Amino acid sequence: MNPNANPYLPVPDYHMHTPRCHHAEGRVADYARAALRAGLNEIGMSDHSPMPEGFTDDWRMAMSELDDYIAEVRAARDAFEERLVIRLGLEADFRPGSEAAVAEMIRVHDWDYVIGSVHYIEGWDFDNPDKLREWDGRNIEDAWCDYFELVAASARTGLFDIIGHPDLIKKFGHRAPEDSRRVNAAMEAMLQAVREAGCALEISSAGLRKPIGEIYPHPRMIRRAAELGIPFAFGSDAHKPADVGHAMDACLSLLEECGVHGVCAFARRKRRMLPLRRR
Ligand code: ZN
Ligand code: FE
Ligand code: FE
Ligand code: ZN
Repeated sequence: MNPNANPYLPVPDYHMHTPRCHHAEGRVADYARAALRAGLNEIGMSDHSPMPEGFTDDWRMAMSELDDYIAEVRAARDAFEERLVIRLGLEADFRPGSEAAVAEMIRVHDWDYVIGSVHYIEGWDFDNPDKLREWDGRNIEDAWCDYFELVAASARTGLFDIIGHPDLIKKFGHRAPEDSRRVNAAMEAMLQAVREAGCALEISSAGLRKPIGEIYPHPRMIRRAAELGIPFAFGSDAHKPADVGHAMDACLSLLEECGVHGVCAFARRKRRMLPLRRR
């Protein structure tokens, strides 16, 4: 990546959390102020969704907090009107068996977009630092294949607008060999499913703040997605206000290098494309 590349005009940052998920800090208004300081003109909140009975854990809001989350986003949207667009989003988990409950939660509220994220392979939340030792007994290629199959299945549900951090499995540095035929086949099948479902992929700067030290997803995935005409949306996955807009320029310049020339904006689950523009 060329560090001297001209910076870009800001695009929406659609991935940020609130303390309801027990591992983030800052009120929505704090994220909004941080966004203004960073020169952004549009953000979207996307806290970890509640999940139905049997799929809960300690890093998401309870169903009883959902209305309060929505009310806080709406209040901030009104308070920052004319200075900053604030979208109402959600980061919903894809876990087989929970689809009906997630679909119902999506149906009954006025989301601007829903990010679908795979954080679990069966019962293992593989991106949870407390579950890192589970990697010890795992075959890395198996984990990547399982992961991509779940991401493909998440797209096929038709529930999601954006596929979150689409190679999160690499978070702690467990890289699959680049020439692994089965991992590459699983990635290709995933991208085909994403294309058929009409989802966008997220480009996320969060990986830069994690042991892997890379943007999600890998440039190879971005290039292939570009060939398939799959659009991208940007997310910092901020868990504190200071992360809002983190490394947006690096993500946008990587997109451009890989043949992607615009990003998505969402309102009421309708997508439009914004061209990447240099300042
Ligand atoms: Zn989180
Ligand atoms: Fe996530
Ligand atoms: Fe997130
Ligand atoms: Zn996330």
